[in-house]
Amino acid sequence: LVEITGVRKSFGTTEVLKGVSLTVEPGGVAVIVGPSGSGKSTLLRTINHLEKVDGGHITIDGQLVGYEVRGDRLHELREKEILKQRTEIGMVFQNFNLFPHLTALENVAEAPVVAHQPGKARRSKAEARRRGLELLDRVGLKDRADAYPRQLSGGQQQRVAIARALALDPKILLFDEPTSALDPELVNEVLDVIRELATSGTTLIIVTHEMGFARDVADTVVFMDQGQIVEQGTPQDIFSNPQEPRTRSFFSKVL
Ligand code: ATP
Ligand code: MG
Repeated sequence: LVEITGVRKSFGTTEVLKGVSLTVEPGGVAVIVGPSGSGKSTLLRTINHLEKVDGGHITIDGQLVGYEVRGDRLHELREKEILKQRTEIGMVFQNFNLFPHLTALENVAEAPVVAHQPGKARRSKAEARRRGLELLDRVGLKDRADAYPRQLSGGQQQRVAIARALALDPKILLFDEPTSALDPELVNEVLDVIRELATSGTTLIIVTHEMGFARDVADTVVFMDQGQIVEQGTPQDIFSNPQEPRTRSFFSKVL
């Protein structure tokens, strides 16, 4: 269970998250949409503590992200603890961010060997490779295990990035516009992989401009504007029967 409660964040004097609250159930799929600059990426980045919050808090399965309570105050966790927490929160970015000098399999298998995982034994190299191949198979790339990122298409690179995020068995996966850097003909192969994750019970929070996809996979569609959640609901609610003028105006431009 992901619980985001009253999260605030400013850059300098600009408040870009103005008290955002959102709950995502285990196995749930929340899709965040909204205009450029509305705070979608910033919100995602607070969920794995790539951004510190200025107010409010986030918990995953009851555990505070990035902070601990000491006395009656929140104190930021030490770097080591933060890194440990991040192994539970997978993130896939727009630009793939693969290690260029590692093969597809090494990209996927390296993460669990290096990472400390609380409650889990550090995986042996052989075990990590076996699991890496299994994950590459899941994203349809078992036969490209030995290819380097530069030898793969954008869609293939992004599928490797998804397999890599899965390698740590995260509790949730965050996607920030996973297809917006791709040529149009490569978008669907990546969306299909995410669809499969959605139906297999992985908890997902996805920022995307792909409205058809959002309608398909989302349990909850969240419309953000100017640092706030303006409206959220089922795809049916939000796409077919939006209540707020700002939501209507946004969809009249993008749908
Ligand atoms: P897009 O759809 O274009 O990706 P977004 O909804 O993801 O937009 P954010 O990237 O979260 O929007 O940005 C929200 C606001 O915060 C923007 O005005 C942006 O310029 C500002 N911002 C984001 N990151 C920083 C930063 N590191 N320093 C200063 N301002 C920032
Ligand atoms: Mg963004």
